[in-house]
Amino acid sequence: MNEYDSDYLAQSLLGKGIFISPSPNEADLIIINTCSVREKPEQKAVSQIGRMLSIKKRRPSIIVGAVGCVAQDKGTELMERFPGLDFVLGPRELHRIVGVIEELEKDRKRIVATDLKGRCRNPVVQPEYFSGRISGYISIMEGCNNFCSYCIVPFVRGREVSKPVPDIKREVEFLAAQNVRDITLLGQNVNSYSYYDGQGIVTLSSLLRSLDEIEDVWRLRFTTSHPRDLTDELIDCFGSVGKLCPHIHLPFQAGSNRILALMGRGYTREY
Ligand code: SF4
Repeated sequence: MNEYDSDYLAQSLLGKGIFISPSPNEADLIIINTCSVREKPEQKAVSQIGRMLSIKKRRPSIIVGAVGCVAQDKGTELMERFPGLDFVLGPRELHRIVGVIEELEKDRKRIVATDLKGRCRNPVVQPEYFSGRISGYISIMEGCNNFCSYCIVPFVRGREVSKPVPDIKREVEFLAAQNVRDITLLGQNVNSYSYYDGQGIVTLSSLLRSLDEIEDVWRLRFTTSHPRDLTDELIDCFGSVGKLCPHIHLPFQAGSNRILALMGRGYTREY
């Protein structure tokens, strides 16, 4: 998901004439995309922010920002700890990236944006960006409503929102046009995908069936799934959707009902 978000940011900025620098030492803008799924990546993200800000000590005119889950969870704390940090954007605020950079270029007033209520972002498509890649990711839903007792995701990615089907098709066709043949549909709880298209609810199963018809896509996958939302209809897709790879990431998490209850997973080993 973070890789997808980084590609989104890069494409948004490329569209505004900002190019990817070969090294942070030469960059005028440095964005650290952070992950807080476990303690270690969070610690790494914080030390990376410190390291990038040491470049700013040598070149004070550059803009440095942190985005993603650590930014969401600890935005204000990061701003207090790192006075050189220009902005923090949570995962649901990434669509604001171009506006934030433009504001900072005009006026160096620091920005913290961590609202979690937004819908899925509109796709950004930058020609040639994916050239040379055979596989690609598309986020089809964001957030999670499950609140497992050990997990931070609902607090840093917000509640579930599903991307409109036309936006997903547009992204798939865009990747296919750049010879990306193996596409993974992403979501924190991807098999709870649910979009009302004006006539009825589109589920992950029906979405897979319609993407199967896109000619230049060879392989489809999805991740990550919750066992409770694994419907018979979705299981049937492995036999009936020709391009769906025989592969599923399905975290059962534990084989003990006591542990599953403590984790708040909402199912038992018998289920
Ligand atoms: S279903 Fe997954 S993402 Fe959602 S709260 Fe549980 S572990 Fe976290």
